[in-house]
Amino acid sequence: MLNQKNIRKIAGQYAEMDAFFAGFSPRGKSRQSLCIAEPQTDLSQDSLEKITGEIETCRLCELGALRKNPVPGQGNPNAQIVFVGEAPGADEDEQGLAFVGRAGKLLTDIINAMGLKRENVFICNIIKCRPPDNRDPRPAEIIACTPYLHRQLALIKPDVIIALGAHPARTLLKTEQAIGKLRGIMQDYYIDDNSAPIKLMPTYHPAYLLRNYSYENRQRVWQDVQKVLEYLGLPIPKKKIN
Ligand code: SF4
Repeated sequence: MLNQKNIRKIAGQYAEMDAFFAGFSPRGKSRQSLCIAEPQTDLSQDSLEKITGEIETCRLCELGALRKNPVPGQGNPNAQIVFVGEAPGADEDEQGLAFVGRAGKLLTDIINAMGLKRENVFICNIIKCRPPDNRDPRPAEIIACTPYLHRQLALIKPDVIIALGAHPARTLLKTEQAIGKLRGIMQDYYIDDNSAPIKLMPTYHPAYLLRNYSYENRQRVWQDVQKVLEYLGLPIPKKKIN
């Protein structure tokens, strides 16, 4: 079972890997990035508003000092489906809202093609502050930030999480497998060792789809979300992702 000591040990190991592969120093000023957001064990005392408030003042990693606005995520607090992306981009950082740029528009198209509206679902990222120049989130940042996501998921209790891209899929499933291998296969996500599984569908990130806008890739994402609709017993519209 992951306790605070284990989490801190893993964070330290990830930070060392960070330092090795990305030249990111876990020492000195950046040592603060090894701090872990304290998990909120008493759900009765927790709320999405409380989590948002903590994120707004969070400086657990260096991204807190670089952001314009934190992006906690938004949507239906009782959503059946939660979409989890990687990290805010420039538009999200400007507005403090998840998925509002070009990739956000494509995500809206996907949600609409599913016969749903953005207000029906919850949309967020594993990282709540924008990494500079849209670089990949570093392992230490993911470790520091994901307790917020776990708390959000514990409160929302969705029936299905749709993980958009490699980082959320790998982080939530604790695997190193490529998104090409993971996508399209419904899996189980556990908030902790004692929690019931939540179904998780990995699929491509809308930004990847935009960069690789082929009929085949659109079909793959459409097939993935159809499986989610089927699992939820929701009607599958004829409309496809354009
Ligand atoms: S990215 Fe997450 S952990 Fe880092 S400062 Fe922002 S909210 Fe805190």
